[in-house]
Amino acid sequence: MVLALTDAQRQSLAAVCDCIFQAHGAGLAAEVKSLLPATAPAYQREHIDALVTTKFSDLPGALDALADQFTRSLSKDSVDKIGLVLSLLSTRPGTLVLTGHASTFPELSVEQREAVLQSWRTSRLTLLRQAFRGLSAFTLYVTYNLYDNMILATGYPAYGDEHRFADKSRLRPHHPYQFESIRTQFEVIETDILVVGSGAGGGVVASELAKKGWKVLVVEKGEYIKPEDMAGTQREGFSRLYESAGLMATEDGSMNILAGSGFGGGTTINWCASLRPQHFLREQWAKEHGLPYFLSTEFAQSIEAVCQRMGVSDEHLEHNRPNTMLVDGSKKLGYPIAKIPQNTGGAKHACGFCGFGCVYGEKQGGTVTWLKDAAEHGAKFLVKTTVERLLFASRHCIGALVRDSEDRLALVRARQSVVVSAGTIHSPAVLMRSGLKNPRIGRNLRLHPVVITTGFFDEQIKPWEGAIMTAISSVQENWDGSHHGVKIEVINAFPGGQAASYTPWTSSAEHKRLMAQYGNSMTLISIARDRGSGRIFLDSEQKPRMDYTIDPYDGNSLTRGTIAAAEIHLVNGARRITTTQVDVPDYLPTPGHTYLSDPAWKEWVAKVEKAGTRPNRCAIGSAHQMGSNQMGTKPSSSVVDPRGRVWGTEGLYVADASIFPTASGVNPMITVRRVFLSLFLSLPPRPRHSRFPLARRICPCRTRLRASSTRTLASRARRPSRLVCSLVHLSSPLCSPLLVVVADTPSSSVSHEAVNEVFSSRARTLSARRARKIERERERKRGADSIANQAQERLRREQNSRRRGELDTKGTEGKAGRGI
Ligand SMILES: Cc1cc2nc3c(=O)[nH]c(=O)nc-3n(C[C@H](O)[C@H](O)[C@H](O)COP(=O)(O)OP(=O)(O)OC[C@H]3O[C@@H](n4cnc5c(N)ncnc54)[C@H](O)[C@@H]3O)c2cc1C
Repeated sequence: MVLALTDAQRQSLAAVCDCIFQAHGAGLAAEVKSLLPATAPAYQREHIDALVTTKFSDLPGALDALADQFTRSLSKDSVDKIGLVLSLLSTRPGTLVLTGHASTFPELSVEQREAVLQSWRTSRLTLLRQAFRGLSAFTLYVTYNLYDNMILATGYPAYGDEHRFADKSRLRPHHPYQFESIRTQFEVIETDILVVGSGAGGGVVASELAKKGWKVLVVEKGEYIKPEDMAGTQREGFSRLYESAGLMATEDGSMNILAGSGFGGGTTINWCASLRPQHFLREQWAKEHGLPYFLSTEFAQSIEAVCQRMGVSDEHLEHNRPNTMLVDGSKKLGYPIAKIPQNTGGAKHACGFCGFGCVYGEKQGGTVTWLKDAAEHGAKFLVKTTVERLLFASRHCIGALVRDSEDRLALVRARQSVVVSAGTIHSPAVLMRSGLKNPRIGRNLRLHPVVITTGFFDEQIKPWEGAIMTAISSVQENWDGSHHGVKIEVINAFPGGQAASYTPWTSSAEHKRLMAQYGNSMTLISIARDRGSGRIFLDSEQKPRMDYTIDPYDGNSLTRGTIAAAEIHLVNGARRITTTQVDVPDYLPTPGHTYLSDPAWKEWVAKVEKAGTRPNRCAIGSAHQMGSNQMGTKPSSSVVDPRGRVWGTEGLYVADASIFPTASGVNPMITVRRVFLSLFLSLPPRPRHSRFPLARRICPCRTRLRASSTRTLASRARRPSRLVCSLVHLSSPLCSPLLVVVADTPSSSVSHEAVNEVFSSRARTLSARRARKIERERERKRGADSIANQAQERLRREQNSRRRGELDTKGTEGKAGRGI
């Protein structure tokens, strides 16, 4: 759904955005410059005038970029809502209803517009708060994500890691991946195992199965960028390696979700934190969810294998300034503080840009570990190709329909199994699009909701420099004994996020003042192990969307986290502390008052507690998605069984964070890797002369196939029966409709329904055939039995008569003898 703006809507949008990001005069520019510390970089000083005097619509192509971001990030419904609000604002009655002013919104003065937006920010009406959050966050995200002169004015190096080119020796050799491609429309690609998605789960599965000799094909919708070709900037990282270009909102707009989408999935862009699942989690999954495997030695042993392969260690760690401040603050307060091991293969890896891909190849993400191992064992990869839906023969998953970025379709036939590892957002979507009906699919969504607390200091911190996340405080982790509290960590710093969420917008001038002091700030996140849950569902365009509203219990945990993080800022000497709660003013401590008993502090903390953490009344984010295809012991309460097999199907597995029964409580990558390493290790090696029971069962015609992935449907159209047989290994009469659908229809119009219809009719026919076959078998057996019975009867009779004859003979002989 593309937001095609009418002229009137465009004018309204410009009026809103130019108010959020206004052009101010030289006076403010001078004031902002005076706020910069002496150590601020020269390039920042040079760009302050531009930052202050530019309004949003002055930025080249900004309105179109914003409309594009709306369409990439939001559902059709939400885009429609934005269109509606903009239309209303272009009329007098609409503006009267929404703002109380009698003229259209663009006709209002900038001061009047600003007052309207400020009132929306704290409005009692959810719709107005949603409108404010959506419009302000998107406007500021686009400004500080795409426009280098605005980014440089914050002090952030818009061009990525400045040290990168100085030390080329750090660049590690990387695997020369060869990628497959769909060469022609309707190609048929054959494999043993199809893995959907190349993230934390998919990589492990691909590698383990390839090592066992199976032919593995990994299909990934994102792209691969070699380390040396990476720009390592937020603009490139978000647009090429993240879902929805880095802004994906829940349906009520209250949460922004970050998820990786590139070769390697989340492991390519994540922040290297490598924490093992805690014992209480394993115990809970084993005892409360009936999954004893999680307490087994098998599971425990796999941790070493995972950590070794990923080079996990904390020996080389060097805390950057924000992590040092987290450590110092926690120590001053007596809060527990620990190191976070990193998966950097022993390298110090002091790179704050890793969230946009590792330009050194030091981070041991999927592309340098498991996917590399898989490639070395013969696995094949298709990137920029989306699995649209899975194909079934009766209960058997036999492959998938895939589409590449140039809209070419192909059918992947998986002779052995299909493993869905498309991540927590997309895996349930793939299952639902494929017609699976278990109502648990998509439920139990856990997001590890995150809130943000920022401290501004006198010193220049440069929060983007050095290793991202190396310290953790568990002070509020178990506040009520249920292990559903929060952990406190340092966030990856980038100005798009800082502007859109971390520094709350209260006015345009204040916003610009604070963004210019970005280099003096540091942000802590409180991550909750959520007890509440949401769901994934498909929108009208068959895309996954998220319903998730923060649970009051989790809101309480997050508020506790906010206060603990603010305390850490306070004792470290912050001169300003901000939360994102719209009802809480920033705390400006009296200089030198860095103690918790200060009455002003206590009063402010009471405000934080009272405001709480409520939807659309503060910014909430998530980078960890889990649980939407829950593992369990019953199909009524879960989606996959204890070995990851999808209930009610055969040959279909799920292998990613979506199978977690609950939130993991720690950053999930290691847990995902561990689960699947040990689960799939138990799969047998590929037999040398593999006989596929699945293929035997679904191919009644038993045509000998010479199907090769290079031959296409189109080229085989002259031999329809062979064509269709090799396509899905089925007999021609059953599948001829598929030929019609696939070969005679332009790719874009091959609908899911059409393919579904073909496959379900084939499945029905197959079941009927199978039933007839079984009946024939029975009859034959009955016949055989009766022949056998008759034969036995005849034999018995013959034996009897023989015995009688013998007796007669003996009798005659006896009589005769006696007679002699
Ligand atoms: C910004 C950020 C920072 C993080 N930092 C950390 C950290 O420091 N430590 C940690 O432990 N965890 C971290 N995580 C979380 C961690 O990366 C994820 O939990 C983990 O990668 C999840 O693995 P997965 O296999 O479930 O899915 P993913 O790794 O997300 O992989 C799913 C893949 O499937 C692909 N896909 C989806 N749909 C389709 C389709 N239909 N067809 C083909 N391909 C498809 C996606 O493009 C994606 O590449 C972070 C996450 C983010 C977003």
